[in-house]
Amino acid sequence: MENCFDLGIIGGGPAGYSAAIRAAQKGLKVVLFEKTAMGGVCLNCGCIPTKTILHCTDLYKNLKKADKFGISAAEISIDYTKILNRKDELVQKLQKSLTKLVQSYGVNIVNAEAKILDKGKIEAQDNTYLCKNIIISTGSKPASLRGIETDGRFVLNSDHILNLSEIPQNILIVGSGAIGVEWARIFSSLDKNVTVIEFAPRLLPLADMDVSKRLERLFKKNRIKFFTGTKIESIKEKYVTLSDGQVIMPDIVLLAVGREPVLPQTSVKLVMDGKFIKVNENFQTNEPDIFALGDVNGKVQLAHSALHQAIGVVDYIAEGKNVHFCAQKVPSVIYGNPEIAWVGKTEKMLEGQNYKVSNFPVSALGKAIADDEIDGFIKVLSVNEKIAGAHIVCPEASSLIHQFALMIGNGLKVEDVLNTVFAHPTYSEGVFESVLGLDKMSLSLPQNV
Ligand SMILES: Cc1cc2nc3c(=O)[nH]c(=O)nc-3n(C[C@H](O)[C@H](O)[C@H](O)COP(=O)(O)OP(=O)(O)OC[C@H]3O[C@@H](n4cnc5c(N)ncnc54)[C@H](O)[C@@H]3O)c2cc1C
Repeated sequence: MENCFDLGIIGGGPAGYSAAIRAAQKGLKVVLFEKTAMGGVCLNCGCIPTKTILHCTDLYKNLKKADKFGISAAEISIDYTKILNRKDELVQKLQKSLTKLVQSYGVNIVNAEAKILDKGKIEAQDNTYLCKNIIISTGSKPASLRGIETDGRFVLNSDHILNLSEIPQNILIVGSGAIGVEWARIFSSLDKNVTVIEFAPRLLPLADMDVSKRLERLFKKNRIKFFTGTKIESIKEKYVTLSDGQVIMPDIVLLAVGREPVLPQTSVKLVMDGKFIKVNENFQTNEPDIFALGDVNGKVQLAHSALHQAIGVVDYIAEGKNVHFCAQKVPSVIYGNPEIAWVGKTEKMLEGQNYKVSNFPVSALGKAIADDEIDGFIKVLSVNEKIAGAHIVCPEASSLIHQFALMIGNGLKVEDVLNTVFAHPTYSEGVFESVLGLDKMSLSLPQNV
């Protein structure tokens, strides 16, 4: 009975490894299959490597303006090879510690590609594993644009760009979602000429309108060129023709146009929802003992969403508890310059309802003035005195948003927030002030603003 398990997990990214640990904690016997490296896209070519590079390029950018703060930092230069080496070392270190962490719970890790032979049956490296339940958490890969091939030299995707040993001067980014915006920040910090094109009529099309508008302003301030409502018509040699007829000649093109699922081989027929695996509210596929978690189900393609789904599904398998997953309660964080984050409803979603809105400028915060980071806002929306949505553009937005995630996740009322004391001087004071502003009662803004 060596190869009999309560749970077989295909894919060792955030969805898979979180499910494995949770299941082992709940006393299940678990086997996890990973065909490349533990950690999935997030650790190997997503969240962690990009933020590692971004941290270095930010440091460079900040040092260049150190003089303004009374610090002399002359002759600053950048060694991009060192930055890449540091990124690779960190990723390897984290891969090892993640593997150890998962193994410390007694999870069997099989380093091989797995396929589903039948309900309850997985095959890898010619061995068969009998699993009462199966989780498919095989993740996603960069989507392509019809008619445009990536070659890893001139036209690159988000995997290729991570290993480019030198960054050329002129870069065209196609797509202004999270990946496009973060690479625009990295390249512009390195003083490169960046152009972003976006097919939708505005940058960051999924964001609240005020966030998109502010991003346009910030792009202009950071000398990032952009064209909205524009797509690539064709690429011929180094010539890129855009839908408005312009021809540009970048040194490289980065395609950041979304992600499509990676599907395992399976003899069990799974019902699809477009390209993604269709699941019900408990993340079951059309086969009740086969679940699909994370990027592969296309619900919210973020690492923390995958982790949250994993906890819910394992509790369902182990204890029969229904999963409570609400996409709108998943915060989005984008490392723009400054950071951008949101959770809950946008103003557009509340159209036709009786809602309140408050948009607090961070320029009114002592901390923002001390940091010389005054270009941003904290916007909050409420319905029936309950916090319904928050949209932030400012330093520390990646952390601040969790205050609103807690409020929205727990149905907190304006009054509950105002009963909380926020420390001074912090950006969190802006959270408090924005909530006060719902009744035009911000203490740091003049009357009638
Ligand atoms: C550039 C970039 C930046 C990102 N930044 C962020 C961020 O800042 N914050 C955030 O929340 N999200 C970010 N994401 C998204 C995040 O990486 C994904 O949402 C997350 O990794 C999804 O986790 P997952 O477990 O569903 O799949 P994945 O991480 O894709 O893992 C799937 C794993 O399954 C393995 N696998 C596939 N098929 C098989 C098979 N048949 N047998 C065995 N193994 C298999 C793969 O090798 C892979 O390791 C970013 C993505 C990219 C590309």
